[in-house]
Amino acid sequence: MSNNVAVLVGHRSGAQGAYSPWLGMSEFEFNSKVAEKLKDVADIYYRPNTLFVSEMSRLRKVVNKINKDYYNLVLELHFNSFSDPRAHGVTALHNITNRYTKRLAGLYCDMVHDEFGIVKRDLIPVTSTRENGGTFILGCEASALLVEPFFGSNSQDACAFCGRIDDYANVLREFIKLAQ
Ligand SMILES: [Zn+2]
Repeated sequence: MSNNVAVLVGHRSGAQGAYSPWLGMSEFEFNSKVAEKLKDVADIYYRPNTLFVSEMSRLRKVVNKINKDYYNLVLELHFNSFSDPRAHGVTALHNITNRYTKRLAGLYCDMVHDEFGIVKRDLIPVTSTRENGGTFILGCEASALLVEPFFGSNSQDACAFCGRIDDYANVLREFIKLAQ
């Protein structure tokens, strides 16, 4: 552990999550590029590609690894995607019983809105491990947030991020600074 903050790249090289035709990149590809730029302010984690186990157990494995250190904050990076291409906006999933994560989720959405003009959606409070993001957010001993800066399936959203990996990394760097 060399930083107080951990960043987990969503999905894994063997199953990369949603693909954005507008970005020409998968969630995993986009967010690995972003994460690699944050190495000086965060410890970067990847989900293992372990064969013959469930996605849940791959996630639990990396969450257990993160929990061995005492981080202040853990972020999981994704982007959203939906069958209706009109769906758009930035959101973040936070722990319903942890008000600090709710505040941070709001701050994250404000910052992405200000920098990229992405419309703010409602924040998503996670209440159980059965929900999307639940295993990660409730499984982390540190305060944890899962962030969805835009819809890769929406052209306007995704194009706001085209060629702007450095700018997004800088927003996250500033966010990490403010969160501590
Ligand atoms: Zn995802």
